[in-house]
Amino acid sequence: PQQFEWDHSKKTIAILGSGWAAASMLKELDTAHYNVVVVSPRNYFLFTPLLPSTTVGTVELRSIMMPMRYITRFKKRAIAFVEGVCNEIDVQNKTLLVEDNSEIVGEVSKQSIPYDYLVVACGAENATFGIPGVTQFACFLKEAWDAKKIRTRLMDCMETAAFAGQTESEMERLLHMVVVGGGPTGVEYAAELYDFLQEDLASWYPELAPKIKITLVEALPHVLPSFSKELIDYTEKHFAEAKMKILSNTMVKEVKQKELVVQNPQKQIESIPYGLLVWATGNTARPVVAQLIKSLNPALQNQRRGLVVDDFLKVKGADDIWGLGDASATKWAPTAQVASKQGVYLANVFNTLGNIRADSRRILAEGQDPEVIAAQSVKPFDYEHLGALAYIGSDKAIADLPGNVHIGGALTFWFWRSAYLNNLFSLRNRVLVAFDWGKKSLFGRDISRE
Ligand code: FAD
Ligand code: NAD
Repeated sequence: PQQFEWDHSKKTIAILGSGWAAASMLKELDTAHYNVVVVSPRNYFLFTPLLPSTTVGTVELRSIMMPMRYITRFKKRAIAFVEGVCNEIDVQNKTLLVEDNSEIVGEVSKQSIPYDYLVVACGAENATFGIPGVTQFACFLKEAWDAKKIRTRLMDCMETAAFAGQTESEMERLLHMVVVGGGPTGVEYAAELYDFLQEDLASWYPELAPKIKITLVEALPHVLPSFSKELIDYTEKHFAEAKMKILSNTMVKEVKQKELVVQNPQKQIESIPYGLLVWATGNTARPVVAQLIKSLNPALQNQRRGLVVDDFLKVKGADDIWGLGDASATKWAPTAQVASKQGVYLANVFNTLGNIRADSRRILAEGQDPEVIAAQSVKPFDYEHLGALAYIGSDKAIADLPGNVHIGGALTFWFWRSAYLNNLFSLRNRVLVAFDWGKKSLFGRDISRE
């Protein structure tokens, strides 16, 4: 591994985040021409497509995590990694205010980092729409710690329901697992939970398993609004056969400690008791992104869900700032596929500009202008959608592929598995995930409560 050294003759790129956009960019970036500093509150990359699988132990969390130092230390020139949260971007002075918000804090817990170029790739937060009680009582499913919390709570519900003397109605409540949001996150989580129930809980808790209910609450008429009609129908039929209830046209109004208050399709207010509640209603801008938006021209930055960028992913109205992935508001869905392609694109832009600058003497000697050559060399970001995949339970997956191809079932499940295995960032992660799948088939999932 290399050691990071600051070179004052080089420009500094600061990158916020260690997710899909940032990690893809870092892998591709040629660090010969720049000082590169990465700031993120977590020191690893997380392969989110398999996060739902970790909530029940189909795959273990550490199998889908990759330490950032595996990338940052093995570049031509090492990249500095700072574990901390960027709370403020000072666009005038081109500095970041970064805070160590981890449990253990040293004598120094704040620092200011100067940048020449800033890449905002810090993703998005969970949208709650200000609905009371969501943050307090529901579990989200975005980060590794969310998956861990869900796994623990689920097993807590099981053991508390098994506690001698529990009343029938309390048992029913504890064993009611509710998911709010019928997007891919909510559907995939419900699917994993269903598999866990069928394949493991049924044999370890035979007296409780028949009482477990899974309900998915969706505000719109159907789940998976971004998928094709055929695959929506296929998924809803599969859920009905598996006795997973979908409450469509149902709006959550409030979340209480043990019940959910909803408005049903008849516009009546109903209360739904729950044991475990997973909230997956999409994204909203992170505070640091909201702060940056506020500091820029409101006529150019008019989207609440993220940064408005131009065709080259430059943040409109800002100097030397780029916005990638879920932190930006673009015409594309906020997916890993988009974020990773944007990361690779921007790395190539910096590589090209770095090479031209390094070669500027020769270019000038040939009577050409390096700035003109640079402007001509950088093309707008172009996105080619490769399709969308989702796991729906019972070894079945769905796939919307280019060319109007919509497929679903057991074969698609194997396609889903191989696509994800292939997309994992390292050989180490591929082996770990493959072992987890094998381990689950041989021994079943672990039901310990951590
Ligand atoms: P992220 O990957 O979220 O990374 C953001 C990074 O910024 C993180 O490292 C975070 O710690 C860091 N950060 C946060 N706050 C700060 C701060 N203040 N300062 C500095 N750094 C900060 N997409 C697909 O295409 N296919 C899928 O199958 C798929 N499955 C998914 C499953 C789940 C459960 C979820 C939640 C999402 C899934 N997605 C999928 C969507 C995909 O994960 C996101 O679109 C993608 O992660 C966006 O990448 P990003 O780099 O913008 O943000
Ligand atoms: P989403 O925005 O895709 O879906 C959220 C769902 O919640 C919507 O269907 C919405 O109608 C519903 N909703 C919103 N408010 C509600 C309320 N108050 N009550 C009930 N329902 C409500 O969110 P997501 O599933 O978290 O996905 C986020 C992004 O990540 C998307 O772009 C998605 O495509 C991507 N993703 C992709 C995959 C995959 O490809 N397999 C998996 C997970 C996430």
